[in-house]
Amino acid sequence: MPKALSKSPSFAKRLVAWQKQHGRHDLPWQSSADPYRVWLSEIMLQQTQVVTVKAYYDKFLKRFPTVSALSSASLDEVLGLWSGLGYYSRAKNLHRCAQLVAHEHGGVFPNTKDALQTLPGIGPSTAAAIASLCFGKREAILDGNVKRVLTRLHGFGHDLSVAAHEKALWQIAQDVLPHQESDMPTYTQGMMDLGATLCTRSQPACERCPMQDICVAHHEGRASHYPVKSRKLKRSAQVMWLLFARCAKGAVWLQQRPTKGVWASLFTCPIFDSEEALLASLPKPLHNKLHFAPAFVHVLTHKDLHLHVAHLAMRTEQSLGDGGQWWGVQDWPNLGLPAPIRQLLLA
Ligand code: SF4
Repeated sequence: MPKALSKSPSFAKRLVAWQKQHGRHDLPWQSSADPYRVWLSEIMLQQTQVVTVKAYYDKFLKRFPTVSALSSASLDEVLGLWSGLGYYSRAKNLHRCAQLVAHEHGGVFPNTKDALQTLPGIGPSTAAAIASLCFGKREAILDGNVKRVLTRLHGFGHDLSVAAHEKALWQIAQDVLPHQESDMPTYTQGMMDLGATLCTRSQPACERCPMQDICVAHHEGRASHYPVKSRKLKRSAQVMWLLFARCAKGAVWLQQRPTKGVWASLFTCPIFDSEEALLASLPKPLHNKLHFAPAFVHVLTHKDLHLHVAHLAMRTEQSLGDGGQWWGVQDWPNLGLPAPIRQLLLA
């Protein structure tokens, strides 16, 4: 069996050396230790691939070069720029967090994990990432990638759905940190890089891994068995009937969603629970002009949305009810729109 990882003095040193030579160094947010930039990238990277985040990160930084600029923007503008990245609660927390940093912290991000964690949208791992990458604090990160790396290295087969087991893994993550604070930024980046580039979910590249000789999962030939998480997300389904009205000049009729629920605060076509409710919202003479497209499914994290779209071609910009308005072709692309609605409007 490999030597127990926590007793291997070489682990942190090896990881730091490996990161310097083989880790990623060209990600746009690595060019500075500015907490605003690191925070922005960390929030975007939650649940989103690096390749997708890059474009959004550049766009955000260009429009909001500082936390103060972001705090002064309207939520609608932030949601508009975020449009397409998904998980819109992140954008709302981003905006609230920027306002708190600007107004209650003098525009300066706190430099400890504990203080960072009090801000909206910043959980323990994101707080540790900012504290270690920007301020050299000895704080361990434990996102999905790092859980995979650490459980494999240790052969940690306990179910991470159990809070006590997750807590034990946090302790392990903390125990194996480098002793020197100056190594923390490289070490944290190294953990991220190892999980993203070698110790991947399927077919990890163990032959190139600097930890091969101390990795329990590799020794067992069972990398794919880690991490163990028995509790699966409960999925549900929802049926939505969408009224997609477009007028001759290209304007579309959109409403802003309530602040809670699916697609909260985003702009969408009017949404109804049933075909009957959709028809009831329209004057009778318009019923004959509706064209129903085949239904399709849009998958969210916890839910499958079964979307039925009724197309309505209008000659003029006549009102279609309270709470909505016509948005011209120059304006609607800047709104916060859920991905399937944007695709619908672009089709
Ligand atoms: Fe992951 Fe393989 Fe490296 Fe172990 S040896 S940490 S399973 S890549």
